[in-house]
Amino acid sequence: MNKELFDKRNALYGPTVVSALEKRGFEAYYCATKEEALEKAISVIPKEHTVGWGGSMSIGEIGLVDRLRKDGYTLIDRDLGKTPEEKTALMRKVLSADTFITGTNALTENGMLLNVDGNGNRVAAITFGPKSVVVIAGINKVVRDIDAAVARIRTTAAPINATRFPGLKTPCAATGKCGECLSDDCICAHWVTTRMSKPKNRIKVILVGEELGF
Ligand code: SF4
Repeated sequence: MNKELFDKRNALYGPTVVSALEKRGFEAYYCATKEEALEKAISVIPKEHTVGWGGSMSIGEIGLVDRLRKDGYTLIDRDLGKTPEEKTALMRKVLSADTFITGTNALTENGMLLNVDGNGNRVAAITFGPKSVVVIAGINKVVRDIDAAVARIRTTAAPINATRFPGLKTPCAATGKCGECLSDDCICAHWVTTRMSKPKNRIKVILVGEELGF
């Protein structure tokens, strides 16, 4: 990859996508680097907010949870649950957090998010519950339209995500290819398109000019 050309194009493309998001009621920002994205994310999360999150590589890759912890935010961390019941209780508690931080499976050029979930906790929080949602999206998540977003999830995001769960009994875990399964282990039960932020500015999207997640 020629980084100089990649950066030059992203400096044009990022603000174009941000403008499309703003037209749909999202508060949106373009940050050229992960470091800028981290500072922007911190700036939109009030210090008094309780913060929860769903499974996301992108928030980890910019160091957001570590920074929130270091800065003394009150966090709802489901990984602190010692039993499946405790973890589920914490996942429910996240739905009433002040701020929910997450990645997105895909983001269209005209400003829509598409997310897929197994249990639905992540898409539920994006849709309703937390007062504020902060989405961290690498430039690799941007696609032409919803058809391309579905294709991205079926061919890339979901099969790669499946490899994070050892022992999953799904076609993608066995072959690397989506078999559009109805397995009990399916991680693609809930498909949610967020075509606008309602209320306006509830969802903040920080688009990063670097690749994040998969
Ligand atoms: S095979 Fe099933 S779990 Fe795997 S990507 Fe397809 S629908 Fe999702």
